[in-house]
Amino acid sequence: NFRCRSAFKLLEIDDKFRLLQPGYTVVDCGAAPGAWSQVAVQRVNSDVTDPELPRGMVVGIDLLNIPPLDGAHFLSSCDVTDPATHAKLLELLPHGKAHVILSDMAPNASGFREMDHEKLITMCLSLIDLAEKILQPQGSLLCKYWDGILAHKLQETLSSVFSSVRTLKPDSSRKDSAERYFLARMYRRPIK
Ligand code: SAM
Repeated sequence: NFRCRSAFKLLEIDDKFRLLQPGYTVVDCGAAPGAWSQVAVQRVNSDVTDPELPRGMVVGIDLLNIPPLDGAHFLSSCDVTDPATHAKLLELLPHGKAHVILSDMAPNASGFREMDHEKLITMCLSLIDLAEKILQPQGSLLCKYWDGILAHKLQETLSSVFSSVRTLKPDSSRKDSAERYFLARMYRRPIK
């Protein structure tokens, strides 16, 4: 039983792209109420459902409270864009590194489509700073965005540090919504 229907979007994406492997460390941004984390726990075996497989780790972060879940560590009342949260993550993660960053974050919608779009793109761009601190080389980032004029800018920025970037619209995402996901794979350090 999942806490929220959004679980089906992640299941659908993961069935196709196999992002979440047993033993992996996953950071779930905007995790409340915790459905994506439930999927991640199952797939990385962080609750050790299968003792034969390596044990992974799931860390969920949200501004809101996230009810406890076996196999997950939650940072409730934390802002993903805040460097203080990044510092907490670095302490928590094995060797300070994650294999996958997930983000289903969304700002409170104002109803002004352009404004909400820009806000969410800014939040997604901040995930690239987070990746620089905690993402393993060859790691992946899956992030939700709302389509609009700045989407290509986000895509370009992702392409500068990931070898593969694609746009996804899961079948379980409402056809008439602007919701999309970028799946960015094969992370490489930015060249400075
Ligand atoms: N993936 C979740 C699940 O399956 O249960 C649903 C996530 S919900 C669509 C979006 C979440 O993003 C909200 O809970 C919201 O509080 C969170 N959020 C928005 N801005 C955030 C930020 N700056 N830091 C952390 N969480 C944030």
